[in-house]
Amino acid sequence: MTGNQFPNEVQPFSIEGANVRGRLVRLGQAFDDILSSHNYPEPVGGLMGELTAMTAALADSLKYDGLFILQTQSDGPVSMMVVDVTSDGTIRGYARYDKDSFYRDTKINTAVPHIMGSGHIAFTVDQGLDTERYQGITTLEGASLAECAQSYFRRSEQLETALLLAADSTTRHATALMIQKMPTTGKDTEQRRNLTPEEDDESWHSAVILMSSMMTAELLDPGLSSLDLLYRLYHKTGVRIYTSKPLKFQCRCTEEKISATLASFSPDDLADMKTAKGLIVTTCEFCLTEYNFDDDALATLRALNSPG
Ligand SMILES: [Zn+2]
Repeated sequence: MTGNQFPNEVQPFSIEGANVRGRLVRLGQAFDDILSSHNYPEPVGGLMGELTAMTAALADSLKYDGLFILQTQSDGPVSMMVVDVTSDGTIRGYARYDKDSFYRDTKINTAVPHIMGSGHIAFTVDQGLDTERYQGITTLEGASLAECAQSYFRRSEQLETALLLAADSTTRHATALMIQKMPTTGKDTEQRRNLTPEEDDESWHSAVILMSSMMTAELLDPGLSSLDLLYRLYHKTGVRIYTSKPLKFQCRCTEEKISATLASFSPDDLADMKTAKGLIVTTCEFCLTEYNFDDDALATLRALNSPG
């Protein structure tokens, strides 16, 4: 056990008297475990915290059974980040970045166009072999990850969404606060109040304004429970709390899965991958677990890979 007492959960809620639903995600030990042994520079760790909390918030607002994946690809110092979360609440992720950029520039500009550069962000829902993968993709547009996600929602004509993200890779606390304006017509209506369109817009805007009053320090304060935070924000309008769901870090890599990947390489390629000691060493990029394959294991892989 470490001393990280921050919660690891997603707390769904709705705002009374408005068609507004929300998710508050807070990650302590789970964020700590994701950073564990990667030694990311501080700004990369911070981005990972934001992306991890955001992924958990978005995932919980979707109905799916399987895996939700958020991945960025871009041409800046942080060239790739991926976070995935299962519908059971296990989460993992990693980042690829250019070490030299952070070595040269210790006060690197952390605005997305600088630290990530231009590129895109992809949202994928994977519910298993027999179902179609849903993918949404959008260019990175905004100064922060939260702005990039909001512009995705705006352009894809999905629910109006407001998002606040905060992460500190030193204390290892990460928070996402997301609210969405629920539709008042159509088949997925979750209307709780009969509001006129004007009242509906007004209650949405006041929810957004209240949310934007929240300070980063409050979002990351281990002395405030999730309920404390939501009460502080929405006690005037009233807030309804639903059952929270625990989140934890867990990698899903196994020797079998790594073998299956290696088996797709040709025998020549496999031979080229051998170390001086005659081993193929593969490291899981999420959890940094090392898998070693010796000649016997390679013979098995070749048999799997043989034609016919
Ligand atoms: Zn792993």
